[in-house]
Amino acid sequence: LVSRKKKQEDTLIQLGNTIIGSGTPVMIAGPCSVESYEQVRQVAAALKEAGITVMRGGAFKPRTSPYDFQGLGVEGLKILKEVASEFGLKTISEIVDPTHIELACEYIDVIQIGARNMQNFELLKAAGDVQTPVLLKRGLAATIDEFVHAAEYIVSRGNTQVMLIERGIRTYEKATRNTLDISAVPILKQETHLPVLVDVTHSTGRKDILAPCARAALAAGADGVMVEVHPDPATALSDAAQQLNIPEFHDFLANVKKSGLL
Ligand code: PEP
Ligand code: MN
Repeated sequence: LVSRKKKQEDTLIQLGNTIIGSGTPVMIAGPCSVESYEQVRQVAAALKEAGITVMRGGAFKPRTSPYDFQGLGVEGLKILKEVASEFGLKTISEIVDPTHIELACEYIDVIQIGARNMQNFELLKAAGDVQTPVLLKRGLAATIDEFVHAAEYIVSRGNTQVMLIERGIRTYEKATRNTLDISAVPILKQETHLPVLVDVTHSTGRKDILAPCARAALAAGADGVMVEVHPDPATALSDAAQQLNIPEFHDFLANVKKSGLL
């Protein structure tokens, strides 16, 4: 169902006045984790000022260590909803439990399925049973074929509103947190009719190369870029090393826009 051979027209995801997949790329930004109302509000104000319409923020955090911050849970989704309605933004947040999918639809506009859950088939099925758009992340060590099949799980249940996001794959290279597989972008665009985005924060794990990687993603045909922004990254409860602060985010955006690709 997700194959370009089955359907030639691009799938479009409408979030308010923003249409993802239409040929006008979108920038999605926000904190790694929702930490407090005030933290999300500061980011939302900066996004609004920059003309960004879609905000991300994790409430259920799949952390490598059980001792690390696990997210605010439903409380975090409520904060996202409250702040988003104040600023007129659309929201994306990760859900990790199939039994939370329906509840999540009340609070957020896009359900994110994280890299670690790309082949959590019960979660994919639950996301396929609702009509809320889904942002599906590529697994840490998933092939493109496995990624496409994971999307097929969702669409085959009836939810056609699926976007794919390349977030880097695990290789032997240690200079970046993951290896951004830029070639996945044109391949996924050719092989599927779904919008394809690139998460520059988790693929690189390096603030100093976010802008060139975002430009590369857009040049390769990505429908959007996702980046993490935090009012005070040094104190962030997750991904402290790679989130942009607000002035850095404005510089990043200006840099990407200068390319004429965004
Ligand atoms: C995230 O986007 O918050 C996240 C945890 O990313 P990933 O699933 O790609 O590691
Ligand atoms: Mn993160």
